Amino acid sequence: MGNKVAVIFDEIFLKHDPGSFHPERPERVKVILERLNKEDLRPLIQIFPPEKAEKEEILWNHTESLYNFIKTSAEKGTFQIDADTGGNEYSFEAACYAVGAQKTGLKLIFEEGFDYVFALVRPPGHHAERDRAMGFCLFNNIALAAYYARNYYGIKRILIVDFDLHHGNGTQKSFYHTDEVLFFSTHQYPYYPGTGNYDEIGTGYGRGYTINVPLKHGCGDDDFIFFYQNLLKPIAFQYKPQLILVSAGFDCMLDDPLGDLEVSCKGIAIITEILREIAYNFCNGKILFSLEGGYNLKNLSEGTATLIKTLIEEKKRFLHYEVSPSSYALELFRKIKDLLAFKGFWEI
Ligand SMILES: [Zn+2]
Repeated sequence: MGNKVAVIFDEIFLKHDPGSFHPERPERVKVILERLNKEDLRPLIQIFPPEKAEKEEILWNHTESLYNFIKTSAEKGTFQIDADTGGNEYSFEAACYAVGAQKTGLKLIFEEGFDYVFALVRPPGHHAERDRAMGFCLFNNIALAAYYARNYYGIKRILIVDFDLHHGNGTQKSFYHTDEVLFFSTHQYPYYPGTGNYDEIGTGYGRGYTINVPLKHGCGDDDFIFFYQNLLKPIAFQYKPQLILVSAGFDCMLDDPLGDLEVSCKGIAIITEILREIAYNFCNGKILFSLEGGYNLKNLSEGTATLIKTLIEEKKRFLHYEVSPSSYALELFRKIKDLLAFKGFWEI
């Protein structure tokens, strides 16, 4: 079903509240939902409720002590884990449904024939580590999507692409040792959470299967797109993923209050086309997107709208789009190539 994007949403995602004046606020999913319901997008989507993740599923990626800690914290009401991360009485429930949305999304992909799923969830997940909730994240939604794909559908080669402004430290850690997941992340650097330098490439069997692109503040469309065209695409064509999972963080976009990678809607459209092309070639077109950051409400909703429209559009508008990368990007590309190509991991 390539003519509609399945959107997974539940009211519980509006109830999780990390505290007043917090940028990761319920309005985020509300504005996206309102945008998706406008007449240009409504025919392109179909909304489904998420299932709730089981405890044993969450424990694939998290310790029982973290699971119990989030559960008991929420039972007490308003709670604060660190300076950035907190919640209320609905947060545990919302976090379980945000993980469960990944399970529902994969069911729609593998059992109902959908090509594209967008999990419209809060809290986000990519910072959450095995034993630690942090950076607005409680459980790692996208990492658990990879476990669902592996454990329920036998998928052995998964590409996770993380285009959030911030480095997905939690996701990286979950799969740093394995070649069953290829993790590709573009992010502002140096920046929160501090990880994600280009020389972090995995370890053991996972060596060469973590690819970090630390972008400079103010980078803009050209540098951003350059790495999707010239690094992600050739590597993905060699890895031949059976499924693509995307940590979709729209805080990489223009005028985000939390950072300045300054990517436009056109930039989002171009990387979406690249992802769609990889999916078309290797995984029957299947991509699951899960919402991460994005704190400028207008760009968050327009970025999501652009992504969904680009997925459905027949026409490939930007397949041969030419960019002019900065000297910083070219130097970074050379360093990544030295590490990954000359050591024989990938031909770039
Ligand atoms: Zn972010």
